[in-house]
Amino acid sequence: MGILVIEKEDLKHNINQVKKYAKKSDKNLKIIAIVKSNGYGLGLKEYTNFLLDNGIDFFAVASTEEAIKLREFGLKEEILMMSSTAIEEDVINMIKNNITITIGSKEAKDILIKCIKKTNKKPKIHIKIDTGFGRYGYLYNDTENILKDIKELQKFAKIEGIFSHFSTSFYKEKWTRLQYERFLSLINKIEEEGIQIPIKHIANSSSFIRFPEMNLDAVRIGSAFLGRVAVANRLGLKKIGYLESEISEIKLLPKGWNIGYSNTYKTKRETKIAIVPTGYAEGYHMKLESDMLSFKNKIRDIIQAIKKLFKNTNLYVEINNKRYPVLGRIGMYHVTVDITGENLKIGEKVKMQANPLYVDSSVRRLYK
Ligand SMILES: *Cc1c(COP(=O)(O)O)cnc(C)c1O
Repeated sequence: MGILVIEKEDLKHNINQVKKYAKKSDKNLKIIAIVKSNGYGLGLKEYTNFLLDNGIDFFAVASTEEAIKLREFGLKEEILMMSSTAIEEDVINMIKNNITITIGSKEAKDILIKCIKKTNKKPKIHIKIDTGFGRYGYLYNDTENILKDIKELQKFAKIEGIFSHFSTSFYKEKWTRLQYERFLSLINKIEEEGIQIPIKHIANSSSFIRFPEMNLDAVRIGSAFLGRVAVANRLGLKKIGYLESEISEIKLLPKGWNIGYSNTYKTKRETKIAIVPTGYAEGYHMKLESDMLSFKNKIRDIIQAIKKLFKNTNLYVEINNKRYPVLGRIGMYHVTVDITGENLKIGEKVKMQANPLYVDSSVRRLYK
């Protein structure tokens, strides 16, 4: 089995680049590090601690479970759970663990107030607005109900923030601007009622890089820290993470021998192969062509990536900084590599491309 290597110096570099770029736009701009989905695959605990050690002090996740886990790891800093929920058990748990709660509907608001009465605590909350993503949040033009709920919530909770989320900031500028305008116009209406909410935020990594003028008070950064953004890499970010495996077998195949499932590859000459015991089940070559993070489509993406790699594209692995072609289909736990004419040995380290997000959580993470 392979391990997922995370290059500490590169990760530090990315964090510093993000911080520098944030300061350039506004020296008080807050950075909220998104560590959902097992810290984008970098390991929830190790990754969060690494960010903490590098000056990040505000974290966000997308599930109650991950928020509570962070508290259990001993994290003292602010944790925003970005998904609005009306599930009572989750809300109680979050209040008890001092998690900042997102409210994006009347139902969530009602449950929150009920739970606050039960626990006798006053949680911090952020209001979520749907400006056209079609997921969590009050519809941005439902102004009357938003104002009513905010006024009621003010009596029970500390409203620290209000936020929305872009659906196309990695490519469609016009739609992104429209979402931004919708958000601002709602905020204006809220402020006209004499209500000031300190932290207004809408930016994710792509908009932070492309449209710093939309940063507002805080930016929510996930993929930029990994250097895996679907926009021009203006900040010189480095790609974080690769799989490291080793050669477990070497053998000679005669000319005209099939390799792998479905006989998609036949040797053209006598071929020396190395077998590397790491395959797509561990995340090898999953979704490399675009590192866009669309969690809704994760399953579909995986299926497409598998189909694609079955088409025998020009895949390679690296051994001692040299590329070697992968022959035939990638197996669940194996790849076969052409090392004809090379003097490589069993146990030789093999470097394989992988997006950490798709690397199975059973694979060990090594920060080095
Ligand atoms: C995942 C997520 C982000 C971070 O997005 P990146 O593009 O990875 O920076 C920000 N906000 C919300 C609500 C998210 O779900």
